Amino acid sequence: MNQRTYLDYNATAPLRPEVREAVVDALGETGNPSSVHAEGRAARAAVEEARAKVASLVGAQAEDVIFTSGGTEANALALGAPAGEESWQCYISAIEHPAALSGGRFHPETTTLIPVTADGVADIGALAQMLEKHKPGGWRPLVSLMAANNETGAIQPLAGTANIVHEAGGLLHSDAVQAAGRIPLDMTALGADMLTLSAHKIGGPKGIGALVLAEGVRVEPLIKGGGQEGRRRAGTENVPGIVGFGVAAELAAKELADVTALASLRDALEEGVRAVAANVVILSASAPRLPNTSCMAVPGVKAETLVIGLDLAGIAVSAGSACSSGKMEASHVLAAMGVAPEIANGAVRVSLGFGTKNDDIQRYVSAFGGLIKRLKRNAKEAA
Ligand code: PLP
Repeated sequence: MNQRTYLDYNATAPLRPEVREAVVDALGETGNPSSVHAEGRAARAAVEEARAKVASLVGAQAEDVIFTSGGTEANALALGAPAGEESWQCYISAIEHPAALSGGRFHPETTTLIPVTADGVADIGALAQMLEKHKPGGWRPLVSLMAANNETGAIQPLAGTANIVHEAGGLLHSDAVQAAGRIPLDMTALGADMLTLSAHKIGGPKGIGALVLAEGVRVEPLIKGGGQEGRRRAGTENVPGIVGFGVAAELAAKELADVTALASLRDALEEGVRAVAANVVILSASAPRLPNTSCMAVPGVKAETLVIGLDLAGIAVSAGSACSSGKMEASHVLAAMGVAPEIANGAVRVSLGFGTKNDDIQRYVSAFGGLIKRLKRNAKEAA
């Protein structure tokens, strides 16, 4: 394959070489972490070392980390009525990933959507009004609001939401799959009761994630059987995946010291595309955003035209819309923000990461500019 420029870290990040090495080593080990012999104890030690590293990425206690098969399973585990006798009602933001919007275990009748502003930030004033009806001793609210959106990068007001939710006697779950390792996250400071993480977005292996709990929070297991993960998630642990997750979390935590470098690359990208396409629209531009994400559209230019044209030019990005059964559907995130269809249908998501260099940005800007120019020329000739 010719030289490629990978700018789709929000879909998945490349595997870090240090992670690959650790995973390969772990694959060579025999022990089951539940076994009492030396091999088992070695596997247990590797799992617990990784658990501490993952906990440390989000300021949690190691014993509160439940390893899962990924972010999707962690969301499903979080979004069920918590263990106990009480009745719960679920509130979920309209811009959540489908893994939360459709993956939870609440009946649609007990689920309410939280609206977002035109900038793609949850309207917590509206949430406060919705939660007013919850009285002590009655149904309790379980609220799910992601830490940052996967399409626009808009960072959500978690701390403010936590206050509202706790005043109403509820619990707050946050899908932090895109935010973890990209902005500092501290569970206690944010007031989140449950946090979803996924290894492959931070350079770890695919198929491993975690639900991290605040102290004292209990969940109703999704997968029952053996007593693994403190009886909260049965099944022999994915030791190589967990070890790889731990290494990725440790490296991502170190990089948090220098997120401004990533933000500068993102700013250079946006400056560059504005110079080559004056009418480009950057979505959620005035909201606080992840340093690595830019969602852009040129009115009237279809996202698939851009994604395919960029791919042919050696650049990998995603459409901000979902492709299902061969038909492009407008993104539910952009729809919830009230973005006009001619912009929403053209939105492409460019997401940078630890391997992105200035050259990648230059290549993107030049390919994007060339494509827009060609499309304009073709449109003129056809007119
Ligand atoms: N939540 C968000 C915000 C995501 O972006 C993703 C993946 O794209 C997921 C959850 C699902 O995570 P996983 O792929 O580990 O199941």
